[in-house]
Order: sequence, then C-alpha cells, then structure tokens
Amino acid sequence: MSAERLQAFGEINLSKQVLQALSEMGFEEPSPIQKEAIPVAMDGVDLIGQAQTGTGKTAAFGIPICEKVNPKFQAVQALILTPTRELAVQVSEEISKIGKYRHIKPLPIYGGQSIDRQIRALRFGSQVVVGTPGRVLDHLNRGTLKLQYVKMVVLDEADEMLDMGFVEDIETILRQVPPEERQMMLFSATMPIEIKKLAQNYMHQPKSVAVSRDELTVPLIEQVFYETREKIKVDALCRIIDMEDIGQAIIFCRTKRGVDELVAALEARGYFADALHGDLSQQQRDRVMKKFRDGKVELLVATDVAARGLDIDNVTHVINFDIPQDPESYVHRIGRTGRAGRKGQAITLVSSREYRQLRLIERLIKTRIVRKELPTLADVSE
Ligand code: ADP
Ligand code: MG
Repeated sequence: MSAERLQAFGEINLSKQVLQALSEMGFEEPSPIQKEAIPVAMDGVDLIGQAQTGTGKTAAFGIPICEKVNPKFQAVQALILTPTRELAVQVSEEISKIGKYRHIKPLPIYGGQSIDRQIRALRFGSQVVVGTPGRVLDHLNRGTLKLQYVKMVVLDEADEMLDMGFVEDIETILRQVPPEERQMMLFSATMPIEIKKLAQNYMHQPKSVAVSRDELTVPLIEQVFYETREKIKVDALCRIIDMEDIGQAIIFCRTKRGVDELVAALEARGYFADALHGDLSQQQRDRVMKKFRDGKVELLVATDVAARGLDIDNVTHVINFDIPQDPESYVHRIGRTGRAGRKGQAITLVSSREYRQLRLIERLIKTRIVRKELPTLADVSE
C-alpha cells in the first residue's frame, strides 16, 4: 500500500463542491481503484489504471477532472474517449453529477445522434467532452471540435476500444492534443500488449495502479455453470430462469442473429425479453435501455459489443447463453452484475464441446466455476 493511498474522500484535497456532490451520490468511501488512482491523478501524473468493470473507474478519473477543469473557461479542457455511445452517455452523466456544484457540464458526442445538435452544443462551449473515437474524429475533421486547450485525456475501457478497431482513430486524436500540458489517463480491465504500446508511445512516465489479479472478479459474484446439449439449450435456459430468483438478467449470445432468435424463442414461451445489439438504430437502443433501466423488462438479450461497460444497478444475473470465445470477455460480461457491492450471479451454459473454453476462463480468473445440475421439471413446477 502506498503512502498516498487515501482512506476517505475527505482525506484528499477535494473541494467542498465535489465532496458535497459525492455525498449526495451516496459515495461514502472511495473504492480500491479510486483510493489508488485519485491522488496520482490529482498530482498531474500520467496514469494507467487496471481494474475490472464495476470497480468505480469512472469516478477515479471523473473526480480529478471535475477538480481540475476551470468552469469559467469556455473551452474543452478534458477529453474522454469511450468505446460505445451508451458508455459515453453514462460517463457523461456521472461526471455531471460529480461536477454539479462546480458547474461542470460535460457533453457526450457519439455516432447516431444528430451532428448538427452536437455542433451547436460544442459551439456553446463545454469543458469536458465524452465521446466515441469515430465521432470525435469526425468533429475534429470538420473543425467543430478543437483540442488546443485540452490538458486531460482519458481512454476509458481502452481494451474494448482496441478490440473494436479504434486504435488508429485514437492515435489521430491524441496527436491533436498539445503534448506539453497533456495529462493522460488510461483505464482498462485487461492490459494486452497493444495497450502497453499505446501507453509507451503517448504517455509520459505513467504510474500504474491496479486492483490485483486476485481481486479481478469480485467475490460478490457467484459463478456457476450448467452442462447442457446444444439442442435443449433454450429449454435449459428457461428452467434456470424459472428456478432462479431473477430481478433482472442480461443474457449473452455470440451473434446478433443469435440474440434475435433467442428473444423470439423466449417470447414464444411466454417470457418478456428485449434484444440489444448493433443492428438496432440508436433510438431503438435508447428505448430498450430505458425500459431495462426502469425495470420494465426482466431479460435483456445482448451481444458483447452492445452490453459493453453498461452500468445497470439491479442486474441480479448474467447468463452466458453462449460461452464467450474470448476468456477476457467473460470478465467483462459478469461485471454487469454484482455492481457496487450488490450480490450477483453469473451462470454459464456449457456444452461438452465448450469445456476447453470454460477451463481457459477459469485459468484467467484463477477461480473454479462451480458446476450445478440442471433443475428437473419437477423442481421447476413446484
Ligand atoms: P467501472 O467503470 O469500473 O466499470 P463504474 O465507474 O461504472 O465502474 O462504477 C460502478 C458503479 O459503482 C456505478 O453505479 C457507480 O456510481 C458506483 N460507484 C463508484 N464508486 C463508488 C463509491 N466510491 N461508492 C459507492 N458507489 C460507487
Ligand atoms: Mg467504466
């Protein structure tokens, strides 16, 4: 533990305004990654933060940003890049809460929303811009976004952005931020080599903070798997849903088509489910997300991409209908439940062909996933 690790938000030099906002948000004490990252970020040092989803990375960079930008200066001073539109909105909302009493109004800019509206909003002047790399680049090319006064850049969910092929966009954007003043922060659940390279090329003697590998999946998430045959997978899923005390669940499928098919199959069996994937229009996605957030839908069936980084409070279960091909994405998926200290369950359906993947996941998370037997029909009908 380093000396500068803080115990309570009050112990670091935060403004009254930010402390007040945090207290209203119900943040009583900093999470482990926040304890490590905030003092470093406040010192103006470049930072690499590694912690799994749901550990509070947003506030880890959001708090220093709210403290450091000047609300009276009408220019973009902080730029945050996120992999998806949903995440841009979510991060922007959290920063707006943290910065409420410092009068910091972040602006989310992302594809799928009217560019004219964004251009007007940018002209109006926002100190903090949260955007997806593609749309940010678009604005830079149009000259409607200028980065010459940016002093803080955050790459949020950097591994996801890389996976999505944004690395060149990110580099183009970074080259437009004056290097002398630039403080960079990079957050990621995993640290593949490409991220390390990006850090090497664009960061200045970065300090790494990490929540250790052992803490990579929170113990609050109970992890189990059921063996099932491909043919009876939907029925197995339904039995599990009936058995479990589900508040809200996110069910992951490998493909968009798989998502649509599963939603149809669930509906045919009398379950209410909604689909979330990349073929939906932004409006449709927003509508589905709102319904889910408002608790009007019990089951959200999604692809990995669509569910990236989403922070939904009441998800009690994450169900891997299709086991993730990439072990890292297991960590991302199950991070959708057990948020902020709540209990969650992660359930994976595994066919005999998929044991290899299961073992790879177990090796990555250094945890044995507990095998459970499928409930019989008698169990369910009780
Ligand atoms: P990550 O980016 O690491 O996936 P988030 O920043 O989305 O995690 O935080 C996950 C949830 O925990 C959010 O609902 C957030 O508001 C909440 N949270 C973050 N920090 C704290 C804290 N110190 N105290 C209480 N809740 C927190
Ligand atoms: Mg995050």
